[in-house]
Amino acid sequence: MSCYYTSVRKYLPMMGSTVTATRQENRPLVLLGGAVMATRQENRPPVLLREAIQGSDNIVFFGGAGVSTESGIPDFRSADGVYNMKYKYPPETIVSHSFFMQNTSEFYRFYREKMLHPDAMPNKAHLALAELERQGKLKAVVTQNVDGLHHKAGSVNVLELHGSRSRYYCMSCGAKYPIDVVIEAEDVPLCKCGGTIRPDVVLFEESLDQHVLEESVRYISNAEVLIVGGTSLNVYPAAGLIQYYKGDMLILINKTETPFDSKARIVLHESIGETLHSALHGNTG
Ligand SMILES: [Zn+2]
Repeated sequence: MSCYYTSVRKYLPMMGSTVTATRQENRPLVLLGGAVMATRQENRPPVLLREAIQGSDNIVFFGGAGVSTESGIPDFRSADGVYNMKYKYPPETIVSHSFFMQNTSEFYRFYREKMLHPDAMPNKAHLALAELERQGKLKAVVTQNVDGLHHKAGSVNVLELHGSRSRYYCMSCGAKYPIDVVIEAEDVPLCKCGGTIRPDVVLFEESLDQHVLEESVRYISNAEVLIVGGTSLNVYPAAGLIQYYKGDMLILINKTETPFDSKARIVLHESIGETLHSALHGNTG
């Protein structure tokens, strides 16, 4: 999302700067399509990942859209399809502040069909992260997703950078509402006071919540192990936030390459759910 960076920049002074040269000593081990590049069994990335998790009680996870796609929630930007567009506007336009204010009914039509996913369930990634938090090993989940699946899986300390589709509020009186208010309303959900109810998500053109952003920076900069999953790290704030990490155990799990692969200790181009599940429960072969 490229719109709210005016406020993010305040917190991301290192954007665009390079990471320290000493990182070159820590060459990444890349597992591509099942090909094992390291010859010794104990050097294989899944084993190293398991050891990194076992050896730390200060892990932070940063996740992107790829965490949700494994629960059947497509990235909303591709949700309308290139060849089958039902909407007159691109998703980024519909999910913007100005569009919401001017075309609230059309916004909710898209939102209900493409973003609500009321039946989506947590996948192995959400469950593994909740388990790590219960074990006292994981300190926080920082996520760009708005689906609330980390909470549904049992995670407690979840920093939702873009808000949550589980929460709603009246723009006039501030009254809070659960997701049912949107499911039950046929058109724009209205408050008892007559005001328009909106999702507690960060729309394009809107600023991130400063408190959530500051907490995310704090956890990432204090983390011993930072696991980044399901994001290509091509857009801010994701890429900027990762640069606050000061440790030497950056782990990237993403199906495709990212610009940070060369800076990571462990890189796995695999499913985030399968990878985390295996790291906790074996089957790392
Ligand atoms: Zn109200």
